[in-house]
Amino acid sequence: MRDWDGELGAIAALMESIPFPSVNQIESEHSHPWDVLISTIISLRTRDEVTLAASRRLLDRAPDPQCLLELGRDTVAKLIYPAGFYSVKADQMVRLAGILIENHAGGVPCVLDELLALPGVGLKTANLVLGVGFGIPAICVDIHVHRIANRRGWIATEKPDASEAALRAIVPQKWWIDLNKLLVQFGQLVCTPQSPKCSECPISSNCPRIGVTRQR
Ligand code: SF4
Repeated sequence: MRDWDGELGAIAALMESIPFPSVNQIESEHSHPWDVLISTIISLRTRDEVTLAASRRLLDRAPDPQCLLELGRDTVAKLIYPAGFYSVKADQMVRLAGILIENHAGGVPCVLDELLALPGVGLKTANLVLGVGFGIPAICVDIHVHRIANRRGWIATEKPDASEAALRAIVPQKWWIDLNKLLVQFGQLVCTPQSPKCSECPISSNCPRIGVTRQR
């Protein structure tokens, strides 16, 4: 039986002093699910520091869907520049704001299928909004979570979407919401994509290092 509290607790202890990923930092500044949704969309294919600054600029001017709709596409694009695909994201967010006003009384739905039906929202974003925005147990799987879970042999999956279902089946629910935050930090600093720093890893003793060809 895997000692989840031991493994994830060791990562949590190591990461305690390190800044949270941008989306969680935004969430700590703005607790509304709208803020988490917008910052998560901005974060796709965008560096953390760019996401943080772009989210702050946009959310200051658009604290709800109605305000964003009134800003219009061009202003939204300018506010989130230089986020990756800023023009596409501006289009998506304006359409998204319209749908939320029309179909959800200007709020963000807290149901997975309803989130997935929104423009620009995939499984990763939907689960982050549920977990971080609403506090509903959900596992957000990005490339770091997918890579680390497979390296450690927790799961054996090809794609992040398959990892989400596989992790839900084995990780205790109390860790679901924090799993993304912990493994993103851990994946950026220790269990990096190329040549992970196994010599600095607090959970190296029982790691099978599946697929790892070089390490430090
Ligand atoms: S021992 Fe290495 S491969 Fe395993 S989790 Fe730690 S850093 Fe990653």
